[in-house]
Amino acid sequence: MQKSNNYKKAGSTQGLSRDQTWQALQEEPSWDICVVGGGATGLGIALDAAARGFSVVLAEAEDFASGASSRSSKMLHGGVRYLQQLDFALVKEALHERATVLANAPHVARALSFVIPCETLAHAAFYGSGLKLYDLLAGRHNVGRSHYIPAIDINVQANALKASPHGIQYYDGIFDDARLAQSIALSARQRGAVLMNYCRAEMNGQADDGFDLVSLTRKDNSAQHTLRARCTIFATGAWSGERVAIARGSHIVLRDIGLSSGVLLPKTPDGRVLYMLPWLGHTLIGTTDISVSCPDYSETAPQDDIDWLLRTSSQALKKPLYAAQITASFVGYRPLVRMPGAGKNSSQFSRAHLVERVAERTLRVVGGKWTTYRRMAQDALDVAIEHGILPKGKPCSTDQLNLSANPLLDNAWLTQGQWSDEQIQKIVKSAVQDEAACSAEDILYRRLRTGFTDQSLALKLKPKVEQFLKQFCG
Ligand SMILES: Cc1cc2nc3c(=O)[nH]c(=O)nc-3n(C[C@H](O)[C@H](O)[C@H](O)COP(=O)(O)OP(=O)(O)OC[C@H]3O[C@@H](n4cnc5c(N)ncnc54)[C@H](O)[C@@H]3O)c2cc1C
Repeated sequence: MQKSNNYKKAGSTQGLSRDQTWQALQEEPSWDICVVGGGATGLGIALDAAARGFSVVLAEAEDFASGASSRSSKMLHGGVRYLQQLDFALVKEALHERATVLANAPHVARALSFVIPCETLAHAAFYGSGLKLYDLLAGRHNVGRSHYIPAIDINVQANALKASPHGIQYYDGIFDDARLAQSIALSARQRGAVLMNYCRAEMNGQADDGFDLVSLTRKDNSAQHTLRARCTIFATGAWSGERVAIARGSHIVLRDIGLSSGVLLPKTPDGRVLYMLPWLGHTLIGTTDISVSCPDYSETAPQDDIDWLLRTSSQALKKPLYAAQITASFVGYRPLVRMPGAGKNSSQFSRAHLVERVAERTLRVVGGKWTTYRRMAQDALDVAIEHGILPKGKPCSTDQLNLSANPLLDNAWLTQGQWSDEQIQKIVKSAVQDEAACSAEDILYRRLRTGFTDQSLALKLKPKVEQFLKQFCG
């Protein structure tokens, strides 16, 4: 294991500017690990690797968490619906990870009660028994016991819902995905990881000693560097080629419609699952699950998806929802492991993850869920060690590792829309200096969540954010 990094004398790369980060990654003659992709999976690997004492560099082609990792449904969950696929091991593992995130990142994650409205007692008994199994699988990691609730209680929990004679209440977690990504990034930097956004990585063969050669190209100035890595791990999500099946999920966001609990509609008229969640002072409704051939983040949520979400959620609500109430909408592309022989319906695909050795020193991690990012990282590094690609470092410690917070940005949503110029200036400074933001979009969408909760407010704030951005990054 290498130890010679000058910039790491303090043991941390926190606060390095973009150019200093680029310089730092060029200074190393070789790296233990090069991670390609800076979503939940890649950042999780970088943190685990740094915590085990490996030297690690991560290259992200766009902004950190700009792919699926800022566009999820924000649930920390075992996946109630995967019980139907009888994949109990997967659900159990995710429930364990749910508890780990809740314990290690309380600044961006919390437990949340959910209700399932049921028309008949038979439905309540069906979902109630499934959720008892869910509780059982969670074991000591459970966050609350599921139970039957009568109509009157449903009204208290989710005032906006139409009256239903029966209901089931259960517990899962909710989190701020892009903020959790920043938390992982900050924790990784504090342990010496070098993380570079807007920097594409490509494999460029092997050196004479067998090390991988990975070419990096900066997006801002096209500067290039080829680094040597003992191990390369691709965590490129929906950009992982033929190994993944891609499912588009659209969400709409409205001003709070009066939900203090999440709502799960397990069987909508066309058979799909729909969630309504209280999120950052708003209501988040999602999601669709439509197979597509490649991700396209230039598009906003397609009108068909928006219409389906409005129509289907309205059927369960006292007052129907209208397009004019939508304050934001977004799409995400799920990277699901392509299973041979699996049908075309992506909602039936497993959410299990897969670590594969794709070349002598190269691994690829695909699939999984945000909830299980930590476990995916652990498995990837363990596989690299088992195959002798990496030496045995310190054991994995991320299950006990409290993630670092940035209170200014983690809590900014609480005062969204009321920021003074001075506060915006502080926010922009921290986003640039502590979290490597490079553009107004990085700040308004992924350091703050304004773009994901209120797109017109984000547009309004953009000129001011750009003005301060010039001050801090020229
Ligand atoms: C609609 C939707 C809803 C979801 N809901 C939930 C949920 O409620 N709970 C849950 O636990 N999970 C949920 N998920 C799943 C979760 O969001 C994903 O599993 C997770 O974010 C995947 O992270 P990732 O890092 O693998 O992929 P991504 O976040 O997509 O990251 C991959 C990154 O690789 C980068 N990249 C690609 N090629 C290169 C290259 N050559 N060089 C450098 N970088 C490159 C990309 O720019 C991208 O940022 C949901 C997903 C979607 C899409």
